[in-house]
Amino acid sequence: MPKQNNDHLLYVTNRPDIVMVQGNGTYLWDQNGDKYLDFIGGWAVTCLGHCPPSLVDAITKQANLLINASPAFYNRPMLDLADLLIDISCFDRAFFASSGAEANEGAIKLARKFGAVEKNGAYEIITTVNSFHGRTLATMSASGKEHWKNLFEPKVPGFLHAPFNDIVAIRKLISAKTCAIMIELIQGEGGVNVADHEYVQDLRRLCDENNLILIVDEIQTGLGRTGKMFAYEDYKIEPDIMTLAKGLGGGFPVSALLAKEKLNIFSAGDQGGTYTGQPLAMAAALSVINTIIKDNILDNVQQQSEYIQEKLQDLAEKYSLTNIRGKGLLLGFDLATPVAGKVAENCLSLKLIINAPQPSSIRLMPPLTVCKKEVDEMLFILEKTLKGNLENEC
Ligand SMILES: *Cc1c(COP(=O)(O)O)cnc(C)c1O
Repeated sequence: MPKQNNDHLLYVTNRPDIVMVQGNGTYLWDQNGDKYLDFIGGWAVTCLGHCPPSLVDAITKQANLLINASPAFYNRPMLDLADLLIDISCFDRAFFASSGAEANEGAIKLARKFGAVEKNGAYEIITTVNSFHGRTLATMSASGKEHWKNLFEPKVPGFLHAPFNDIVAIRKLISAKTCAIMIELIQGEGGVNVADHEYVQDLRRLCDENNLILIVDEIQTGLGRTGKMFAYEDYKIEPDIMTLAKGLGGGFPVSALLAKEKLNIFSAGDQGGTYTGQPLAMAAALSVINTIIKDNILDNVQQQSEYIQEKLQDLAEKYSLTNIRGKGLLLGFDLATPVAGKVAENCLSLKLIINAPQPSSIRLMPPLTVCKKEVDEMLFILEKTLKGNLENEC
């Protein structure tokens, strides 16, 4: 495996030789002044585009007022954000952290606390094959990535993995030791795999029948990404716990764990963190959510989603694209051969940033503010790349 030619950064991944210096809306600029069309949206993070004025303004105002009050006190934006999230969701309580993995760690701990208090010490959590829940040791253990199976052994015990969209497999794994089921409603890193409506309804029912906690990891799907504020709304169910991150801060690191009142069961000291409720992060999230609501961003998500899918259908016949899938602006499709990495690389050389989460699949997750003109630009470069790829194959 070729290692990046950088002497001082710890090697963790392959990166192209590009240094990003500036962002605006759906575009990024590198150190040479080259302009890129960003259809990974800072990894499903910059939901309002790069450096939206509303967010810059909110962070600046808060920075001038109070950057850090310490986790030992309430602060104003912390209280306001909790109120707002509870107001727009089915949950009753919020806990804040900085990253998605941290929010999921909190969810895992809360589910285990529930098992300890209510279920005789039950601690097992059922998750799904191909799921992604983060890179801490516990969230890697929870994740169903084949490639991670033998990494960093011994793993945190107590995680069982069932194939996605397979309710029978889940049912088989439930025992007296089970305290929770944890799923993504759309597996993002797993390749944009959408949970079936009936599957999620059955999961809710299974959890009710067996007194289990249903955790939905909406770190990628939350905050309008799927066309609803939260993806669970589409399934007409109420989870017991939801985790949010990525889009929540629009680029500022912040995450949230939301829970039903019956899970307000941590004892003092069970959970916390130096940066829980950090005022800058809270102000960023408040601004993001308020802007999504005020600017009717969800309408744009729906419109652009339909347009992209329609246009991808047109390309599908010509270039053997299959399985166009996803919701809102979390979309994926398959190529006929495992050349997705190469296609993404070729797009990048034409200044379009897209993602290949799996060897044969492409994922699009542009800012929720993306416009038709930018979609057309993306489609133009994508088609050019697919055409070139096809000619190379012949
Ligand atoms: C990105 C992601 C995470 C991890 O979030 P980090 O902020 O990278 O820790 C967890 N779950 C899902 C579904 C994600 O997409």
